[in-house]
Amino acid sequence: MLDDFQNSQPIVHRILKKAIEKDECSHAYLFETNGYPNYQEFILTFVKALVCPDHHMNNQKECKYCNLVDSGNFPELKVINPDGFWIKKSQLQSLQDEFNKKPIMGNKKVYIINGADKLNKQSANSILKFLEEPDNNIVAILVTDNIYQVLTTIRSRCQIISFKNTKLTFDSSIKCEEKIEKLVYQINEEENKEKILKIIDFVNYYEAHHIDTLLYLSTLWHQYIKTKDETEKSFEVILLYYKDILASKLNRNIYIFNDKINDMHKIAEKNTIEEICNKINIIMELKQNIKYNANLNLLMDKLIINLEGRN
Ligand SMILES: [Zn+2]
Repeated sequence: MLDDFQNSQPIVHRILKKAIEKDECSHAYLFETNGYPNYQEFILTFVKALVCPDHHMNNQKECKYCNLVDSGNFPELKVINPDGFWIKKSQLQSLQDEFNKKPIMGNKKVYIINGADKLNKQSANSILKFLEEPDNNIVAILVTDNIYQVLTTIRSRCQIISFKNTKLTFDSSIKCEEKIEKLVYQINEEENKEKILKIIDFVNYYEAHHIDTLLYLSTLWHQYIKTKDETEKSFEVILLYYKDILASKLNRNIYIFNDKINDMHKIAEKNTIEEICNKINIIMELKQNIKYNANLNLLMDKLIINLEGRN
């Protein structure tokens, strides 16, 4: 039942349960897994709530619908997984043919597309039509580990559901100071609290001065961040900061940097949602390369150049 997830994912639980109860489900959801380990189980439970005549509200062992979903044999549920690096156009075409038929069991058809970030422009086209002209009988569930890499055309047409990251969450009732404390703990070492603030200063500086930041990297960055390990952790901080900037842009709850709200507003004002997503993406990509990168000076140059879109 959906209620099984009430404690671990209170917000997602509330949104989806309300949608089911009021029969106001969106025609397309984009689930952001956010490192939540039980996302598949949660999504299947949601599917059962959608298709089961009883909305899977009771734990009925004898429900034919729910049992078929569990065994992967429910005729109105199709699951697509990336075939190689991409989701291929042919995979979606067969899906479309399938959905031109009326449902045999119940009144809803559901499709799940895992790895929605693996939809490229060609393959996405075939589902865009559905996303633009939704059919009442069909619910699309897209799932991604990396929402920033999902095509804008898709992302903008889905209701975004972000699972709470159970690895890195901060109770909103605790103060920013304590959150940074926790972050410091994750990044370890005492002196690092000051370092985190330097990293934030660096991002603020970059957002005000752009390419000129290249000239001051030694005083803004290299003076404080010296090893690969530190660089990797610092990138993590930058990512968290940009995610908070995005949250402030979307009027969502700020996770960590509540006391930087003025700086974040300034940055959020100057960047579009797309630009922020793009920056997050660039930072994530570079972060993955840190361990292969022998020269940290070049790496930081590259960060600025890529962020400026001059690569
Ligand atoms: Zn059922």
